[in-house]
Amino acid sequence: GSTIGILGGGQLGRMLAVAASRLGLKTHVYEPAANPPAGQVCDALTTAPYEDEAALRAFAGSVDVVTYEFENIPTSALDVIEALRPIRPGREALRVSQDRLTEKDYLSELGLKTAPYADITDLASLESALERFGTPAILKTRRFGYDGKGQVRISDPSEAAEALAELNGAPAVLEGFVDFTAEISIIGARALDGAVACFDPGENVHSAGILRTTTVPASVPASLRTDAILLAARILNALDYVGVMGVELFVTPQGPIVNEIAPRVHNSGHWTQNGCAVDQFEQHIRAVAGWPLGDGQRHADVVMENLIGDDMDRVPELAARPGAALHLYGKAETREGRKMGHVNLVKPKG
Ligand code: ATP
Ligand code: MG
Ligand code: MG
Repeated sequence: GSTIGILGGGQLGRMLAVAASRLGLKTHVYEPAANPPAGQVCDALTTAPYEDEAALRAFAGSVDVVTYEFENIPTSALDVIEALRPIRPGREALRVSQDRLTEKDYLSELGLKTAPYADITDLASLESALERFGTPAILKTRRFGYDGKGQVRISDPSEAAEALAELNGAPAVLEGFVDFTAEISIIGARALDGAVACFDPGENVHSAGILRTTTVPASVPASLRTDAILLAARILNALDYVGVMGVELFVTPQGPIVNEIAPRVHNSGHWTQNGCAVDQFEQHIRAVAGWPLGDGQRHADVVMENLIGDDMDRVPELAARPGAALHLYGKAETREGRKMGHVNLVKPKG
């Protein structure tokens, strides 16, 4: 049998390990933090820092292929692993998506629309970009941001210096504000042989930068769903991608605008666990193991609700609702803003 190496032991790594297990595959998870959610379900766990080359080499040597649940893996660790085993999705996808500026440049060069953006290096570059884009605008760190962390909304040009200070001098981009009518995301998959399959677009609602719900079907015209799928396929093909990718889009009267891409399974794809014969986690494992992709047709209407922080108190009530499928991540400690689990509310396809 084959063994899949997974970098990162959070909830995404955990659900990937469960999917691999269902396919008769073994998993070895590499996670620096103690007691990771994926540690409870994988076959082997290495808890070592990404700087530990001996641990990385032992990890790579014990698996057939390496994948990951997050994009911010240090380049030096990837170099050590890549000398021993294939990394899927490949290095180009990581290089592009680790940095918001590189990512937006890449997407623009592909001919895709993004929010207006500018590289911010100092107060002068921020003030000039604010003049061009107007307010509101959003200042985002180029690297390491997630769940809206590392972002400052600027409502007035006079807030420029304060916004810069909030990011502590981290390299940043300014984005013009997109007045979207909806947010949707495409969960796309590409196999080793180049076959592409995308799940039905889900409609996302965020609050305070964190995903709250994903609903399928999305309330957007069929033509836009097709456009969005073709757009995602273009990115997958351009990167010669292997695995599942999340593509977040803003829907505007002028068409879809790409917000960001994630080279991994994605929170907005969790609905597929109860809405499709083959979910995003199985699809990803199939792809990185070199297997054919599975049937990701949507057979139900689903609302995925994230359980964040104190939402855990409502689990008994949420779980009792008709059609509720509960997914908890086994995190020992509840913290404000921390994703603890999700509920998929499933109804027959309308
Ligand atoms: P994730 O956890 O999805 O990786 P993130 O920290 O990378 O989140 P973004 O996706 O950049 O954050 O932004 C979070 C949310 O903030 C978006 O889904 C959207 O609702 C809002 N947002 C971000 N950028 C813009 C923009 N340029 N215009 C309007 N809204 C925006
Ligand atoms: Mg992001
Ligand atoms: Mg996002």
